[in-house]
Amino acid sequence: MKHAENISSIKALQAWRAIPQHLRDKLVRNVFCGRCLNAVEIVDYSIRQEKHALLLTGKCRTCSQPVARVVESD
Ligand SMILES: [Zn+2]
Repeated sequence: MKHAENISSIKALQAWRAIPQHLRDKLVRNVFCGRCLNAVEIVDYSIRQEKHALLLTGKCRTCSQPVARVVESD
């Protein structure tokens, strides 16, 4: 299980890096935070491959509340 998990996170990272830098910048700076009730920047995030999307999970830069963002990868 551990091995499969590593492979899927490598794939997720590769898919994430395949997105142009300026788009990635836009995505990480436009995450909704339920505490700030605003679009915030996600920090300390990790990336997971879901079925048809990438899932970013991390923290709000402003208040450190956990936040997540789905990025369609189709
Ligand atoms: Zn926040």
